[in-house]
Amino acid sequence: MSSVDRESSWQTEETRIFRRTVRRFVQTELAPRVPSWEAQGASDKEAWRKSGAAGLLLPDVPEEYGGGGGTFAFEAVVVEELARAGVHIGFGVQSIVAHYILAYGNEAQKRRWLPRMASGEFIAAIGMTEPGAGSDLQSIQTLARKDGEDYVIDGSKTFITNGSNANLVCLVVRTDPKATGPRALSILMLETEDLAGYRVGRPLEKIGRHVQDTCELFFSGVRVPVANLLGAGEGRGLFQMMDQLRYERVSVGLNAIVNAERALDITIDYVKQRKAFGKTLIDFQNTRFKLAECKTEAQIGRVFIDNCIEQFIMGKLELVTAAMAKYWLTERECRIIDDCVQLHGGFGYMTEYPISRMWVDSRAQRIYAGSNEVMKEMIGSSL
Ligand SMILES: Cc1cc2nc3c(=O)[nH]c(=O)nc-3n(C[C@H](O)[C@H](O)[C@H](O)COP(=O)(O)OP(=O)(O)OC[C@H]3O[C@@H](n4cnc5c(N)ncnc54)[C@H](O)[C@@H]3O)c2cc1C
Repeated sequence: MSSVDRESSWQTEETRIFRRTVRRFVQTELAPRVPSWEAQGASDKEAWRKSGAAGLLLPDVPEEYGGGGGTFAFEAVVVEELARAGVHIGFGVQSIVAHYILAYGNEAQKRRWLPRMASGEFIAAIGMTEPGAGSDLQSIQTLARKDGEDYVIDGSKTFITNGSNANLVCLVVRTDPKATGPRALSILMLETEDLAGYRVGRPLEKIGRHVQDTCELFFSGVRVPVANLLGAGEGRGLFQMMDQLRYERVSVGLNAIVNAERALDITIDYVKQRKAFGKTLIDFQNTRFKLAECKTEAQIGRVFIDNCIEQFIMGKLELVTAAMAKYWLTERECRIIDDCVQLHGGFGYMTEYPISRMWVDSRAQRIYAGSNEVMKEMIGSSL
């Protein structure tokens, strides 16, 4: 990358080799399909299976469960290569769900779901948000009541990434209708193929990220075996989520900084070619100053996220630091991309120019994975 002057400290010879494979696969198998996926509002299942075979799914899950057996550095390589190619397929959600299973699943659950997720046979979604409960997860109303050997689920979820493709849903439910505190929630795993009472709404019409099928999910008397509960008992859902959010927030932060780097590269190329008043745009001091600010912020962000990744690999990343990474890096991403749109002039507003797509695609980053305001609340509570 021309805009980045350093190699990440967490890279090793193995990740470099892995990166070459991932980059080739993303460029030849995934990136060319983005326009058709955008048109249909979803990726296709075949691409997931091919990606599984190529080692892009669950690279940081132990080999005994079908994963690549690497550290988070291998997942980071996949996050980076997808972002660099502008492929916003929902592999990150697959990894997040896998790590819920790895952290809280029993041996039988790990063996049942992880190998099929690694191969792409199972596509996972995570169902937390409801029409009436987003940031405030304790307001979740989807109810799972015990009936013999099953839970019976009623309720709905919204904004669910991979919603239409998913055949495995990691669902946050209320298992204690009377409880008001954090112990009301639990996590259930649902295999959705031919599941009676389960319905997927049509993909929601978003302003960006059209490759991702973001859907509503409906549950009406859905029966799921009690054995599909994640963890040793009911009432642990909120604690499990809080602990796992670190993974998601580092991934989003990394994705943000790669998007910012990509925007810079695209824009540096553009301003060296575009002419106005007999000069190229780069000859204007304003252009150089704007890009100097963007490059500085991108580089600061890169150093920060690399440090977060190192800490995460060592198991030392604090929740608050992960929140800082998610908040600060997605804010920088949006600001840098917005400046880059401005430097493209009217062309930056045209969908055929990648920078315009990056502008709409990036906007969601400040909202999901815990909104940036919620991140600041978290950071503030540590003061
Ligand atoms: C593209 C996309 C993909 C998504 N994918 C998924 C998915 O796969 N699974 C899933 O479960 N969810 C998903 N979501 C949902 C996402 O996690 C929620 O949108 C997010 O948590 C915010 O919840 P909300 O939309 O209900 O907003 P609200 O919670 O209603 O928040 C509205 C505004 O109020 C602010 N606010 C709320 N509480 C506070 C507070 N305490 N202090 C200060 N400000 C506050 C928020 O920051 C925000 O600005 C996705 C969303 C998008 C846009």
